[in-house]
Amino acid sequence: MLQIVRVHAREVLDSRGFPTVEVEVTLSGGAVGRSIVPSGKSKGGGEARELRDGDEARYRGAGVLAAVRNVREVIGPALRGLSAVDQSSIDRRLIELDPDKATLGANAVLGASLAVARAAAAALGLPLYRYLGGAQARTLPVPMMNLLNGGQHADNNVDVQEFMVVPLGAPSFAEALRWGCEIHHALGDVLRGHGLSRSVGDEGGFAPDLDGDEMALELLEQAIEQAGYTDRVALALDVAANDLWRRGRYEIGGRRMGSDHMVEYIQGLVNAFPICSVEDPLFEEDWAAWSELRKRVGDRVEVVGDDLFVTSTSRLARGIAERAATSILVKPNQVGTLSETLDAIDLARGAGLGAIVSHRSGETEDTTIADLAVATGVGRIKAGAPCRSERVAKYNRLLRIEEELGAGARFVGRAPA
Ligand code: PGA
Ligand code: ZN
Repeated sequence: MLQIVRVHAREVLDSRGFPTVEVEVTLSGGAVGRSIVPSGKSKGGGEARELRDGDEARYRGAGVLAAVRNVREVIGPALRGLSAVDQSSIDRRLIELDPDKATLGANAVLGASLAVARAAAAALGLPLYRYLGGAQARTLPVPMMNLLNGGQHADNNVDVQEFMVVPLGAPSFAEALRWGCEIHHALGDVLRGHGLSRSVGDEGGFAPDLDGDEMALELLEQAIEQAGYTDRVALALDVAANDLWRRGRYEIGGRRMGSDHMVEYIQGLVNAFPICSVEDPLFEEDWAAWSELRKRVGDRVEVVGDDLFVTSTSRLARGIAERAATSILVKPNQVGTLSETLDAIDLARGAGLGAIVSHRSGETEDTTIADLAVATGVGRIKAGAPCRSERVAKYNRLLRIEEELGAGARFVGRAPA
């Protein structure tokens, strides 16, 4: 009933209109699991590589026909006959086929890994969060909602990639989501009041031209106040500082800063605004500066490694040893299999670090990360603004899960996860 009998793949589209890999796994009892792989734009240097065709005659070179073929012709034959409920053996087999996933493509490998998990859950009649997390999976994550987009995700002049609101004071996921949506709508009013654009970026947040990062934070504070949530909603940043790093310095707001100044700049923002979390405030190889920033602000603000850790246990182990961050951003497609994703979360928590499950800027209707957040109980999810259905799909999935869990659902909010 649980044996893998068919592994199929096809090209489908992501939210930017570029192809991505969809994998469908069928088991001997007839259960089917399907997964669609997301795609990042501001990537860490250490990420597992997605395979793109490079054929300029199709989708500007971004086709994934080779990755699709690899699923059908290499991964499928290797997985056929294996038990879908033995995820670690499945993922070990995938890693054996292509240890760094560059040949088959991380998009091919992750699609297969996640589709197997979904097929197994379907065969057992369990929701994915229950299948992956067992009976204790009941913690809904606080949504970190990216309401203002900049950097590579928008066409505006804003350097910092993401300005998020975090409804820490909410009593439930559904209420947190409502607060975030009301702040999103209030922000629209605030922007219109200032004569600023309400067009949106890749993650659904507004993307106006602004006079610097402080202005973005001030606009968000105004929106939070207008919506009536002052002191109950914190702010968070994803600086995505890799994109600011040029020839050994940070270029931000028309200034060029060395690492010491960048640390001071971030510390200044954290002091001036109710910020609870800063992601990638520094370049991914600027390890000493990370440790310095963590020493200065890590006791009151979450210092999150995304491009720094790329969901890799080896980079995370270095970060733990050097006390570089207090939390890891978790993106399954940075590492390429479900088991390695879970390993990174386990390592982080064992060392007392937090973890945030995250979407990519190129997303689809696939909602696996919502279930993953509940399964692991990490207490945080990044899934964008409540605008654009590929973002909202994750939030809607979490609403369904919270309803399904009923009185058993837990929402952490301000308390540590
Ligand atoms: P990406 O951005 O998906 O474009 O890499 C998301 C992030 O940096 O958190
Ligand atoms: Zn990031």
